[in-house]
Amino acid sequence: MKIGVDIDGVLANSLPLWVAELNNYFNVNKQLNEMHLYNVLKTYEISQSELKLFLKHRGQYLMKSAEPVAGASHYLSRIKQQHEIYIITARDKRYQEETQEWLKKHNLPYDELILLGSHDKKEPCLERNLRVLVEDTLEIGVQVSAAGIPVLLLDAPYNQGTLPELVFRKHTWDEIYQAIVHGQIGAAVKGSSRPAGSNMF
Ligand SMILES: [Mg+2]
Repeated sequence: MKIGVDIDGVLANSLPLWVAELNNYFNVNKQLNEMHLYNVLKTYEISQSELKLFLKHRGQYLMKSAEPVAGASHYLSRIKQQHEIYIITARDKRYQEETQEWLKKHNLPYDELILLGSHDKKEPCLERNLRVLVEDTLEIGVQVSAAGIPVLLLDAPYNQGTLPELVFRKHTWDEIYQAIVHGQIGAAVKGSSRPAGSNMF
């Protein structure tokens, strides 16, 4: 089966790094639980051009310096033995090199790396016929699941709340792995309104 996997907040523990760098650069003291990677502008009350300048200085560093999420390499490698991995991220294409290096450094295997430069993952997931997306941003999970693709949402302070049908909260990579190998994904979709005849595996 074809599996989509996000980077920041799913493979990379990016939040502490971003908060530290943003706090330092903008000279504020935001806490982890105040931060939403999906909306840095709102959290830090900064403009698009301020963010652009920040990324010019710290972007490359941010893209290659996060610690991996616990269990990500172990379980992604196991999943890769039986499935195709599509790493699909909102990161901009200009960070391709840093991103590839980071994935390699932390032994995170994949078949294709897709840098979108936007948060719109619905079309790219549909185009590649992905059967599940592992994601941490609830807004993206809502959008992708509405297109009939199940989403495994890795729990984070910024993605709390009620989940729509086809979005399943997972707390660890072990839980993500169990859901994929034990067929929770297939079962969920068979029970949904997905068109008849669609082949889950
Ligand atoms: Mg993410």
